[in-house]
Amino acid sequence: MTDTFFSSKNDTKIKRYPPIMKFWGRILSYALPIGAMVWGLAKFGHTKEALGLSCAALLIALFSQLKQLFKLTAWLLDPTLETSPDATGNWGDVFMMLYQQEKRRRKDQRKLAATLTRFTRGAEALPDGVVVLDENDRIEWCNAVAERHLGLSRKRDMGLTINYLIRQPHFVEYVNNERYTESVTMHPDHAPDTLLSVQIFPFEATLKLLVTRDITQLEKIGVVHRDFVANVSHELRTPLTVVGGFLETLLDMENPDQEINRRYMGMMLDQTRRMERLVEDLLTLSRLESQSGQHREEPVNIPRLVEILAHETRSLSGGKHTISIEMECTDWLNGNPDELHSALGNLASNAVRYTPAGGSITLKWAKQGDDVVFSVKDSGIGIEPQHIARLTERFYRVDRSRSRETGGTGLGLAIVKHALLRHQARLEIHSESGQGSTFSAVFPSERVLPQNN
Ligand code: ADP
Repeated sequence: MTDTFFSSKNDTKIKRYPPIMKFWGRILSYALPIGAMVWGLAKFGHTKEALGLSCAALLIALFSQLKQLFKLTAWLLDPTLETSPDATGNWGDVFMMLYQQEKRRRKDQRKLAATLTRFTRGAEALPDGVVVLDENDRIEWCNAVAERHLGLSRKRDMGLTINYLIRQPHFVEYVNNERYTESVTMHPDHAPDTLLSVQIFPFEATLKLLVTRDITQLEKIGVVHRDFVANVSHELRTPLTVVGGFLETLLDMENPDQEINRRYMGMMLDQTRRMERLVEDLLTLSRLESQSGQHREEPVNIPRLVEILAHETRSLSGGKHTISIEMECTDWLNGNPDELHSALGNLASNAVRYTPAGGSITLKWAKQGDDVVFSVKDSGIGIEPQHIARLTERFYRVDRSRSRETGGTGLGLAIVKHALLRHQARLEIHSESGQGSTFSAVFPSERVLPQNN
């Protein structure tokens, strides 16, 4: 009887019998007939033959066992599932059990490797840097973001102590003090403009997870926010102080003269209007910045809008400037009429405010390649080059007193920039101090609605 346990690679074909059955099967199929033959030979006086047959049977049995043992040793040296040895008898059981154990081990190993790969990929996909430190703060593993944030190299720095690589005193102190409930911030030596927030999370008693986050933008937003609140407070405080001062003076006066009364009231009204304008501009800016702000779009007749703007500019100028139009294009734009009116109107009113009486202002609507451009050219005071890049910042003014005198809030060009951004347009500024300026709103061809007549 031959029991083939894994004669093929597919062990679903394995025939399983209890070992005790195999033992008796073997006795019945080999030992009993040979034993009977030896007994027969001995009984009929063939002692020599009986001895010879016994020796031969024992030798064959020994050879067969050694052969199986050799097969097993050879397979154990390289236990591939593809070359699993065929075996007979009880050796088949041993081989089968080892084969199945190896198969289970490989399955577990594959599962573990897959889990590890998934974990590694997950850690690589994080926007934060992750470094695994051992009990002696040596780097066991880190993701690519951590390499970038901390200037580490996975090839070079594995197994090195983190404090030897990052030597900033407060970082070293943070790692050594083991007070990990809070984070620390640092500018890494290799990228001093970057601000990192670093925090350590201990796990599994001795290991640590060091997490780094780039907070450069957050910090910048925080600074802009703080500056903005300070600027708004400052802008509101001045008119409020003026109004308060006049009211106190009026209260202290027993019988205020009608004329003084009117003058003070007029000045208070000016300050109130100034605050009103500021609040108006702040609300416009906030509407433009908010994503959810309503931004309906429709065909806008720009040539008509230019005529309206010229009319408004003339009434703002009160006849002090020569205002003309150059209409070189009849195209309309797809956009929001109110936002476009506000943006282009701001450019025109700035031209009036920053051009001394007698100067000239030209509103132009023209093609520029595939784009279309609305520009306002003035012969005003102009701007020195170092200011130009910052003009669209909120509350940035070249000449603070001139801006205030002419009713400026310092928010006009910030509004222009945001309104144009919502139309994928850009603001170009060409100016020369004392020679005048040209402010151009350049709209991309996708926004253009050509008109044939
Ligand atoms: P403001 O309310 O102060 O005019 P804006 O944001 O509209 O605020 O403009 C920012 C600054 O840009 C102004 O304070 C002024 O110094 C400068 N500026 C804007 N338009 C002109 C122009 N046409 N000529 C010269 N300077 C200008």
